[in-house]
Amino acid sequence: MTKTAVVAGGGIAGTVAAIALQDAGYTPAMYEARERGADERGAFLTVAVNGLAALRTLGLDPAVLFAAGFPTPMLALRNAAGRRLAELPLGGPAPDGTTTITIRRADLYLALRAEAERRGIPIAYGRRLTGLTRSPGGVTAVFADGTTAGGDLLVGADGLHSRIRAALNPAGPAPRYLGLLNAGGFTAGPVPAALRPEPGVMQMAFGKRAFFGWVAAPDGSVWWFANPPRRRPAGPDEWTPAGWRAELLELFAGDALPAAALIRASEEIVGPWNTWDLPRVPVWRDDRTVLIGDAAHAVSPSSGQGASMAVEDAVTLGRCLRSRAELPAALADYEQRRRDRVQKVVAYGRRSGSTKTAGPVGAAVRDALMPLVMRLLHRRGDPQAWILEHRIG
Ligand SMILES: Cc1cc2nc3c(=O)[nH]c(=O)nc-3n(C[C@H](O)[C@H](O)[C@H](O)COP(=O)(O)OP(=O)(O)OC[C@H]3O[C@@H](n4cnc5c(N)ncnc54)[C@H](O)[C@@H]3O)c2cc1C
Repeated sequence: MTKTAVVAGGGIAGTVAAIALQDAGYTPAMYEARERGADERGAFLTVAVNGLAALRTLGLDPAVLFAAGFPTPMLALRNAAGRRLAELPLGGPAPDGTTTITIRRADLYLALRAEAERRGIPIAYGRRLTGLTRSPGGVTAVFADGTTAGGDLLVGADGLHSRIRAALNPAGPAPRYLGLLNAGGFTAGPVPAALRPEPGVMQMAFGKRAFFGWVAAPDGSVWWFANPPRRRPAGPDEWTPAGWRAELLELFAGDALPAAALIRASEEIVGPWNTWDLPRVPVWRDDRTVLIGDAAHAVSPSSGQGASMAVEDAVTLGRCLRSRAELPAALADYEQRRRDRVQKVVAYGRRSGSTKTAGPVGAAVRDALMPLVMRLLHRRGDPQAWILEHRIG
């Protein structure tokens, strides 16, 4: 008889897991807390070559699936004066032609969910998991509307504030605030050539007061993000949209960067939202329940790897379920393959984010040393190769 899986969370991890589980012979069903069509928070993100290669193993062609995105194989780091400090590969083109892509978060979700639906995987919206019950024959998810769904396996893909993680780890941990806000925007149409960076290169700059990133989209517009440092998390209604725009303009005033001009040219500004990661989560699984994606190991947005780690988890889970008939053994195998890697990526993301909050002295040291450090690191090969060249065996 086919085994059934309840997947809680219809984000990147949950959707790719549902597809991977179907490939592994399971019958999955997805349950997403939001209503269908609800706006996704976030502006845009990168899916790196390691995440794209994992998707290919499911027969998904990133060029087709993520047609709304565009290639960004390089990253240029600058200081507040606009001076280039370093250039780093962001991934690609890999031998299979894959190149790291940048895509609006909402388009990424839509593309993945459309693919799941195309494969006949049911997605129930407006179903927020609140708890779970276990029995010898299965596991049952309980939803806020009083309904339930049972299966052989429950996949906890319910994100940073996972209820399933809390059920497996009643003593925590809780997400850690990273001391940075995040916001993004899109210019209203094409910008003058002087404001448009070279295609395919994600520009990032340590402004005097905040970090800024910007990239040219194929239609001539520019997508950007800002990371203002903030000691404590922001509340939901701390700024009006006009107040937030003014705050951003103030933060980048005086920097020799296109930040202020791009913010002025944008009608659509998303955020701010707080940034978090998750320290080590002790329990990832029991005999019939397993955590994946941000529910298990949220990484700082500064790593550029949150989506890719979610995809790698989901594909690895499918692999383990296919190769081991015994559920507890398959889940143990999954954890064994994933835990060390994701924890290293979480630590890497935290280190990357901490360079964005350096004070004036730290910033001067960073700007002076970074070109040298990068040159030394590059002599030994690409310092990010361990992340980008990972392939799921
Ligand atoms: C602003 C921003 C920028 C980012 N930039 C990047 C980047 O450049 N590169 C990158 O790789 N990653 C980036 N990330 C991170 C990336 O979006 C996440 O790491 C990735 O989406 C993790 O996927 P996930 O499916 O685990 O979690 P999520 O995408 O958060 O999905 C979880 C889903 O579960 C649903 N849910 C929550 N609770 C319940 C419940 N109780 N019951 C049912 N459903 C529930 C949520 O509605 C959501 O749809 C960024 C994140 C943010 C917020």
